[in-house]
Formats: sequence, structure tokens, C-alpha cells
Amino acid sequence: MKDAIHVSKENYLKAILEAEAEGNQVIPAKLAHWLEVSAPAVTMALKRLKRDGYVQVGEDGIVRLTEAGREIAYRTALRHHLIERMLSEIFGMEWYEIHEEAERLEHAVSPVFEAKLKEKLSEGGACPHGNYVLPESPAQRKQRGEVPLSEAAEGQRYTVVSLHERDPKLLLFLHDAGIGPGQSLRVVTQNYDQTVSIELSTGNTVLGRPAAEAIWLRLSRD
Ligand SMILES: [Zn+2]
Repeated sequence: MKDAIHVSKENYLKAILEAEAEGNQVIPAKLAHWLEVSAPAVTMALKRLKRDGYVQVGEDGIVRLTEAGREIAYRTALRHHLIERMLSEIFGMEWYEIHEEAERLEHAVSPVFEAKLKEKLSEGGACPHGNYVLPESPAQRKQRGEVPLSEAAEGQRYTVVSLHERDPKLLLFLHDAGIGPGQSLRVVTQNYDQTVSIELSTGNTVLGRPAAEAIWLRLSRD
């Protein structure tokens, strides 16, 4: 569990915005899980964020951003996105190494540096995990013809479009398993125990549900 002091106001606001963009309703327990902090730490942080006018907590317990909160959240997400692309596109760092680095650096970007990064990289491109500034909901992705590995069809060949990137341990796990953005794989079987057997160029492997839900695919043409 992380020290509450290291999880800043920006991290809370960004986590709420990302969850909303993914189509989730944000309750304090989920924030504690996503940010790896204790429930009392979340309660304290939400109290401060409410007092400062960044969030509202409804009678239904759902946490919502105010306009001011949304603006800070978006800026933090944008800085995270730009830093990731800088580390990858300019410095050649690998996709599985950069998320945590960007988590640290996003809080140190000045408006001048942010403008420089935007000018150099543009705001619209995808990060090396295949994601845009804000995540999309599963419904939006499916509308574009993407499918999570947990729902992919047996026997079909797919290309990895993007990976959920909130959990750096998951990214390392996928890298160790030989799975990364742009890679090709074939679904061998969707198993009774909710695991998926897949075939990669490096051999066959079996992934559990949490990993399979974090991998978004597009059908390969061949
Ligand atoms: Zn990313």
C-alpha cells in the first residue's frame, strides 16, 4: 500500500476522470483499490477535494468531478499521455517501462513545457500502450470493432490494439508473457475456468481473467 502523502490531489482527480471515461461509477472503495491506498486515506482526501470544490459526493455515494476538478484531471491525464509519448518516441523507452515514470513526471510539467510537448507530439496520437488521453468505455471500443481477449472467438487470429495501463505490474506481467501492443495472437480456447489459451509467435500460453480483460484486440485480416 502506498503512502497517502504520495498520492496527490491530481492522482485522485485523474483516477475519477479515467473511471468515468471508462463508463464506471466512482465510489470511494473503488478509488482505494485503484490508487492502492487505505479507505481512511480516501475518506480524508475526498473531504479535502470536496472542501476545495473539486468533487461532489452524492447521496448515492457516487463521487463526481466539478468543472474545476475535471479541468485539473484532464490536464494531469494529458501531461501523463504526453510524457509517455516523449519517453517512448523521443527517448526510445519500452512501453512496459514508461507508465510509472510518467506517473512521477506528470506532476512536474510546467504549462510552458506542456505546450512544447503538445507542439512536438500533438494531442491526438496514441500512447505506446495504444491508449488516447482519456480511456474509452468498452461500448465505444466494441463499436469500433474491438474485443477484449476475454470475449474473443476461438480459432481466430487477432492483433493487440491496446492494454489497460493503470496497473504497472500487469504491464510487466504481459511483457513477460510475450504480449504487447501491435502483436499478433490466435485464440486457441476460452476455458471453463475463465482462462484463455492463446498462441503467440513465441509459443502457447494461458492467461487468467484479469489479464484477458485488460487486452483489447482487433481481428486480423489474414
Ligand atoms: Zn499509456
